Amino acid sequence: MYDLSGIHTSSKLMSVSAISKFDFALTIDGKPYGVQHSFDVLNPASEQIVASAPDADRPAVESAVAAAVRAAPAWAKVPVCERASRVRDFARRVEEQQEALSHLLVLEQGKPLASARSELLESLNYLRQLADLTESELQFSTTNDQSGTKVIRRPLGVVAGITAWNYPVQLACSKLAMAVLTGNATIIKPSPYTPLTTLALGQISRDAFPQGVVSVLSGQDPLGEKITAHPAISKIGFTGSSRTGCAIAKSTADSLKRLTLELGGNDAAIVLPDARIEETAKGLITSALENTGQLCNAVKRVFVHESMKQDLIDAMVSVTESLVIGDGMNEGTDLGPIQNRMQFEKLKALRESVLQERGTFHCGEQTLSGPGYFMAPAIISGLNDASRLVSEEQFGPLVPVLGFETPDEAMVRANASPFGLGGSVWTANVDKALELAEQFDAGSVWINHHSALSPEYPSGGFKLSGLGVEYGVHGLEEYTQHQVIRIAT
Ligand code: NAD
Repeated sequence: MYDLSGIHTSSKLMSVSAISKFDFALTIDGKPYGVQHSFDVLNPASEQIVASAPDADRPAVESAVAAAVRAAPAWAKVPVCERASRVRDFARRVEEQQEALSHLLVLEQGKPLASARSELLESLNYLRQLADLTESELQFSTTNDQSGTKVIRRPLGVVAGITAWNYPVQLACSKLAMAVLTGNATIIKPSPYTPLTTLALGQISRDAFPQGVVSVLSGQDPLGEKITAHPAISKIGFTGSSRTGCAIAKSTADSLKRLTLELGGNDAAIVLPDARIEETAKGLITSALENTGQLCNAVKRVFVHESMKQDLIDAMVSVTESLVIGDGMNEGTDLGPIQNRMQFEKLKALRESVLQERGTFHCGEQTLSGPGYFMAPAIISGLNDASRLVSEEQFGPLVPVLGFETPDEAMVRANASPFGLGGSVWTANVDKALELAEQFDAGSVWINHHSALSPEYPSGGFKLSGLGVEYGVHGLEEYTQHQVIRIAT
């Protein structure tokens, strides 16, 4: 169903108040910082300007780095329990602005208000759970009295977090938390498509952390390189495309910066013949169309046993056709627009490629008229593994379904991808699923569901899907470096 009818007056009022609540200035040294140039941020549901964001120039980068360099040594000495309590205080302040931030997130990102509210709740959960985890489980120092040896984990100094446009609040909150909990000062740079909520988080951070510990810089893509190439920054925590991840690896090679890269994926779901069709269809669509398919760990290829392929397609179509597409501010909306024109055009080209490669649309063949970057979700079969939609990361609501004869064959085909972010097995036989799960070349594997991540467990990708891990104790450790001190015995 396609519904773009007028949005609720209370949502309109809340949106106006959300925009007026924040200053949308850079945050540097705990203060707002003005720059000469700005750029417009568009609402992808209307293509109208929501607000403009500062385009940080070289002096702004230098000021943010200098403030972070000044702040880092003292912050590193702050006991971990106090750092954790500062992060909890930041979470409390974000919680106070939860509703305004949710509305702002809908306006700049396009997702439905209910999903924006969930993202805010999830972000608070990440802030608090990462604070608990750092306090209770990260060992900052161990001493062996007998050998006179002390092993400590030292912060890296100044670390930068660069984020994508699909989950801007959650990505900014988790990168901020991991950096500062481990004793680093941080500079966060959001995507130019969704800078407003991150600028608002920067404003909130001014009262929560000592000056210079958290800075937020918005700007166009070239700002990213000014940050990654900066010699005083020791680590980049990056979430975005594999192409940009590789560019960052190159630009940081000469200074040997530490890197954690969370990159693209082309997750396969393998559906065995004993899977329950209705539940599986629902679970696959929940993952594949979450955030209108703009989720790194969404199901992006469905491999199903030939014997049940048509039944599964029918069930997936039925779930898909029940979803309402529209402006995220509209209470009944399930799927918002594609977030930006660049991604919209890429998806339109992928739809064209399906027709050229003789794929079959089981639903979603129609094009939707604007304004706004709306696209009907499509279930597609008849493509081979080398087709564009199957071999590339679509990052949108186009779901290819492919048949297989044996699970081993499905696994080989699932793994024949340069990506290795996630995968899933759908079956009533959990033992068989566990056996297959360990054969996936992927950082996360789910059984009878797909996409769930949580702050207690490391998240990372194989192959072009990433380097290192974020979250969990292992993710936190990547924001520190070992030092061994030995006393002569
Ligand atoms: P992107 O790579 O285009 O941009 C990501 C960020 O990098 C933005 O802030 C951008 O301004 C910045 N950037 C661009 N060029 C840069 C450069 N040369 N140097 C430094 N920074 C630069 O990605 P996107 O389109 O914003 O996000 C979509 C991609 O992110 C998808 O591939 C998706 O799978 C991936 N993603 C991965 C995860 C994960 O956890 N693995 C999570 C979310 C998104």
